[in-house]
Amino acid sequence: MSGTTSPFDEDPDLGEVVVARDDLHAKIAELGTAITRDYAGEAPLFVCVLKGAFIFLSDIARAVDLPVEFDFMAVSSYGTATKTSGIVRIVKDLDIDLTGRHVVVIEDIVDSGLTLNYLLKHLAVRQPASLEVCALLVKEGERRHMPDLRYVGFTIPDEFVVGYGLDVAERYRNLPDVRRYRGA
Ligand code: 5GP
Repeated sequence: MSGTTSPFDEDPDLGEVVVARDDLHAKIAELGTAITRDYAGEAPLFVCVLKGAFIFLSDIARAVDLPVEFDFMAVSSYGTATKTSGIVRIVKDLDIDLTGRHVVVIEDIVDSGLTLNYLLKHLAVRQPASLEVCALLVKEGERRHMPDLRYVGFTIPDEFVVGYGLDVAERYRNLPDVRRYRGA
């Protein structure tokens, strides 16, 4: 169980590091400072979109110096293994009432923007006082469906990535860096 080599080191499906762990942590500290400043005097509600955003949520939560509350949603989007179709089904809805709340959606990655667009429409009708998005990763390229993103960590090339919460068939979520996935 112990040792200096990791099974990830020899995984042929894993490509180069796209965002290294130190850069992730430095950027998350910056995002946390910005959110702390922008929501001063408020108790924002962070809505985490499971499962991919769970690691980002746990780090950004501790980078924000405010009395944040948390809730979780799970969605399943139809499509191929590496592309979403935009047809999204809510598998787990929120427990907390959004009325009058300052809501920040915590997202792992935005590709076409279809999933996020669907979610934002679904949340906006619940009359939050404000509704913003904090996305760790955004794929480069012209996106017809891209909603407004108040906070963005990194813009990355349009390639499939894993790690730091992002999976392929539930694997690689615990990789500390974001890496290119070559198996797609
Ligand atoms: P969109 O609807 O913006 O095209 O896709 C958003 C969702 O697709 C993300 O929340 C994530 O679950 C998944 N996704 C998009 N790009 C990637 C990627 O490069 N790697 C992984 N693991 N998931 C991705």
